[in-house]
Amino acid sequence: MNSSNNHGDMPAEDFRKYGYQLIDWIADFFAEIDKHAVLPNIQPGDIVNKLPHRPPVSSESMDKILSDIDKVIMPGMTHWNHPNFFAYFSSSGSAPGVLGELIGSAFNINGMVWQSCPSSTELEKVTMDWLRQLLGLPEEYWGIIYDTASTSNLHAIAAAREQLTDLKLREKGMCGRTDVPRLRIYLSEHAHSSVDKAAITLGFGMDSICKIPVDESFRMKPSLLQEAIQADRSKGWRPFCVVATIGTTSTTSVDPTSEIADICERENLWLHVDAAYGGSAAILPEKRDLFYGWERADSIVMNPHKWMFVPIDLSAFYTRKPALLRQAFSLVPEYLKTEHDEVTDNFMDYGFQLGRRFRSLKLWFVLRYFGQEGLASRIRYHLELAKEFIQLVEDHPSFEVMAPAPFSTVCFRFHPEGTDDENKLNQLNEKLLQAINATHQIFLSHTKLGETYIIRFAISNLRTEKEHVERAWKLIQTEAQKLIDSFMYTS
Ligand code: PLP
Repeated sequence: MNSSNNHGDMPAEDFRKYGYQLIDWIADFFAEIDKHAVLPNIQPGDIVNKLPHRPPVSSESMDKILSDIDKVIMPGMTHWNHPNFFAYFSSSGSAPGVLGELIGSAFNINGMVWQSCPSSTELEKVTMDWLRQLLGLPEEYWGIIYDTASTSNLHAIAAAREQLTDLKLREKGMCGRTDVPRLRIYLSEHAHSSVDKAAITLGFGMDSICKIPVDESFRMKPSLLQEAIQADRSKGWRPFCVVATIGTTSTTSVDPTSEIADICERENLWLHVDAAYGGSAAILPEKRDLFYGWERADSIVMNPHKWMFVPIDLSAFYTRKPALLRQAFSLVPEYLKTEHDEVTDNFMDYGFQLGRRFRSLKLWFVLRYFGQEGLASRIRYHLELAKEFIQLVEDHPSFEVMAPAPFSTVCFRFHPEGTDDENKLNQLNEKLLQAINATHQIFLSHTKLGETYIIRFAISNLRTEKEHVERAWKLIQTEAQKLIDSFMYTS
């Protein structure tokens, strides 16, 4: 039960007891994660129905609270840490990362200014610089941690906007002005939707987004980018930002960043590189050619929470123009002024949020525990597994690979001999994905390339081994065969 008085926190001895208990629970959870189904077998509302409609009036015991993790929460869990999680881009939390989270929440600081927690500000600076070195980025890049790549993309576009100094957008805004031209942001038609959302949030609107068509490998066509910029300028519109993606969400295609950088330099446009997923592979020297040109970007995002085994959320944002980012966001009320403001970074000045968690701890733990070699070998292993999966698909007469796979995500579809109607193939693959996920044993997701329905197989989970990929492939074939045999398909 709780402490004898009701004025303070849980007594230390209880914290120790339940803390040990919880760590034991987590250690077993990691060790035996294979025993769980990756997807829960429940319906919407099932978890709500297990919970009381009213908050507790009197104190509940930790024994009861912890037991509800098993009873109430586990039945509704999609296990992102599961080795059979092949959907989206996985985010697998490593044990050192979880321990970093734990101590971070125990410290419970708010790193808004240096003074509000010097260790937080300074560890963030050091870990972001370590990460920069691991990624092979030049020293000029200044880094900050945000929560997600969506937030990083938004800050990139806000900084790009700040470069349009003559428009005085920070002071005067964009509404009701006849002296502000239409402002344009360019990205490939495969760029992530968070860039569109950033345009909405920042008040540019969806019309500011110009989607550039891609080539047969789903890479932005630089010649069409150049044409679009010229066409917009001739209409009196004002281009200001280009987003190149290294590892697009659907197929992980890589935009020709160096050629795009040439255009940005010529046209004086901000170049932002979104490498949210792909960026982790820059740690491998043999993969650096995919990143050629990103070292010329004004800003870059990559997410250690996607493929560097840091528990969600932690997005690494780099810019070579931090002064512009600061100019876009710095607004210091009297109560936050300190005597150190001239000599140190206060991270609240570089974003819309004031309060910030001590996220760098979990990055620090992960970088130190695995080291450069440990991270590289795990990422390299995922790339090898992806190659093997591609081989399995290619060797099968009824499956086909649908896009180049520069990283560890494979786009494929079921294409039984004699079925060439595209609509039918789409329906078949949609049903196949539903059937695969309905087993709850593996979790895959989909995309569409044009009108074509594709299944994605993303291998970036820390706990995934060759045997998991092989078992998943067997299950995919079994479900495909069942579909072929079923009345649903033959009707
Ligand atoms: N950018 C790319 C290329 C992505 O693939 C994603 C998500 O998968 C995002 C941005 C958004 O990531 P986050 O969930 O960190 O906002």
